[in-house]
Amino acid sequence: MFGIWGHPEAARLTYYGLYALQHRGQESAGISAMGPSGVETHRGMGLVSDVFDNAAVARLPGTAAIGHVRYSTFGSSRLANAQPLTVRYRRGWLALAHNGNLVNAVEIRQRLEDEGSIFQTTVDTEVIAHLLARLGGTSPDEALAGALNVVRGGYALVTLGNGRLIGARDPLGIRPLSLGRLDGAWVLASETCAFDTIGAEFVDEVAPGEIVCIDGDILRRRPGAHPAARSALCAFEYIYFARPDSILRGRGVHAVRKEFGRELAREHPVPADVVIGVPDSSLSAAAGFAEAAGLPCEMGLVKNRYIGRTFIQPSQELRSFGVRIKLNAMRSIVNGRRVVLVDDSIVRGTTSRRIVEILRDAGAREVHLRIASPPYRYPCYYGIDTSAAGQLVATGRQVDEVARLVGADSLGYLGLPGLLRAAGGESLGFCVACFTGEYPCDIGSNTARFFWDGEGEGEGSS
Ligand code: AMP
Repeated sequence: MFGIWGHPEAARLTYYGLYALQHRGQESAGISAMGPSGVETHRGMGLVSDVFDNAAVARLPGTAAIGHVRYSTFGSSRLANAQPLTVRYRRGWLALAHNGNLVNAVEIRQRLEDEGSIFQTTVDTEVIAHLLARLGGTSPDEALAGALNVVRGGYALVTLGNGRLIGARDPLGIRPLSLGRLDGAWVLASETCAFDTIGAEFVDEVAPGEIVCIDGDILRRRPGAHPAARSALCAFEYIYFARPDSILRGRGVHAVRKEFGRELAREHPVPADVVIGVPDSSLSAAAGFAEAAGLPCEMGLVKNRYIGRTFIQPSQELRSFGVRIKLNAMRSIVNGRRVVLVDDSIVRGTTSRRIVEILRDAGAREVHLRIASPPYRYPCYYGIDTSAAGQLVATGRQVDEVARLVGADSLGYLGLPGLLRAAGGESLGFCVACFTGEYPCDIGSNTARFFWDGEGEGEGSS
């Protein structure tokens, strides 16, 4: 998500901001800009580069805009669910974009439908829009505070309309949101890498539960309806999701990943000749592992950067011929050697299995898999797409069983204390529910939602 207020190039800067945030979602992209006659939106399916050309950006008017790239965690993707969502209600126009999952969206939606509301999409964002519209008597930010009092889950959101830009985070701060400044304009972005891209200066993180309201040159910050006693930033932001050049809670993501790798080397040492990271998300951890283990870190795997969403998977028959379009191993680096393969996580296990096989085919004598996070055993209800528990390879399996399944000579996962230490210490508060099964806030009716979605009706998140 991205938002900007008070800049003559608002839509163009939002477009660059979305480019920087493309890793957070590749299904759809959209920008809403505030012109004299209301909010205008351009949205489409695919990457930012598929959805926008010069003319589309130039048509978006005004000095304020918000943008979104979508990554859906439930169900299929379709244009109706692309964001920002725009609505017209008694206060005027409003555009909304959100990241994460509301865990009680199904209940709220059913209640609103029983009371006569008509929904046009299946995204959670529309639930927030309806709640906002009903709380019409108060100011826009008070109405948002009221709406956020009703919803629960892990989310960050930006809204544009009624003469202001508003940003908010869930009470535990599970999903990130930062505030920046550019030439006197205020900027909001899911990650700080978007500030670097447009030359903005980082100001602060939006605090858990906080609502930030930008109105003219004025910035007002107010605590949300549930000031949280603690925060619970999603640990997976550090592990996999965020870009390495982003800064979360004052810590560079690359530096934290490197520290995960060092910890991992201390926890699970193994005699080996070379360390290889899985590109791109594991390269920082691999560098840290190699440094701590005193081993060379080499580019043993090469990834094709141009595989898009619509990539047609090779058939089993072609795969048996050795068709490797996405990832290839460097024979000169791995042949005859004992390899430590570092990856950020194992979710379903299919990636690890394939990579171990590729390395063996290229002549690796041994493959020791080291994972820079703990075993991923419980589904995420707050906005990371990792499917239902049944598909998580570590659920109900011992580490050696997982090693056997993925075909590695040995397997070591980073322990939870090491992970938390490397990410700045447990006292900061993290959501680590995917490793422990202890969810920091209610997961509501989400188990029901898996079934609801399974019937092809619901797509919750963004
Ligand atoms: P797999 O074990 O085959 O499901 O794939 C795990 C790999 O996908 C990890 O190495 C990560 O780099 C990447 N990954 C982890 N979590 C996600 C996610 N939520 N969405 C997409 N890719 C992910």
